[in-house]
Amino acid sequence: MTTRVTVWTERRQDQTDAAVRAVYPEGIDSAIADGLREAGLEVRTANLDEPEQGLGDEVLAATDVLTWWGHVAHADVDDAVVDRVQKRVLDGMGLIVLHSGHHSKIFRRLMGTSGDLKWREAGERERIWVIDRAHRISAGLGDSFVLEHEEMYGEPFDVPAPDRLVLVSWFTGGEVFRSGCCYLRGRGRIFYFRPGHETHPTYFDANVRRVIANAVHWAAEPAGAPIFVANQPALEPPARD
Ligand code: ZN
Repeated sequence: MTTRVTVWTERRQDQTDAAVRAVYPEGIDSAIADGLREAGLEVRTANLDEPEQGLGDEVLAATDVLTWWGHVAHADVDDAVVDRVQKRVLDGMGLIVLHSGHHSKIFRRLMGTSGDLKWREAGERERIWVIDRAHRISAGLGDSFVLEHEEMYGEPFDVPAPDRLVLVSWFTGGEVFRSGCCYLRGRGRIFYFRPGHETHPTYFDANVRRVIANAVHWAAEPAGAPIFVANQPALEPPARD
């Protein structure tokens, strides 16, 4: 069955900021969605200005993996939307959190931490090292790849220790960062992927597109059977004195 992806973005800076529109004239969502369509996935886009902020029950029920890009409008996301998305993740929907989504309500909710980090907007060179070669998300990547201009994110990154750490970044300024982090929450698989600052053409990069598509394939598989809450009779006969 084809994996159904919903690409959610807040659609703010790519509508109003000339510097961002110059890089993403069709919107950040289109660039992410086009990369996933190239990989043969079934993709729809959704955004904050749609009914139910683009993430009503019907949309979520028809979504195997949700990708999330937000930056300046995290606070505008309704808590009811965060509740719905969290429930779907715990029920098995995959979630790919991109770049400044580290401060989104949904990522903080699922991590239980602040998501805080250091940053610097200086268009630095970023080298991303593929450190977990056996992981599905590393398929088709070399030992490392370079983004010539990106925002710097630096450690410490306030997240729980990842269940699998796939990618680590190095920046010209000297910092390093855990750029590709896998988590399991309930039956859901979550991947945080660092690059994607709005004034750099990162979502047109072939390696970045490959990572996101690989992550969608990985996250599309729910982890294990649902848990049923029930009063449980003993499986073994009780001991007799
Ligand atoms: Zn940024």
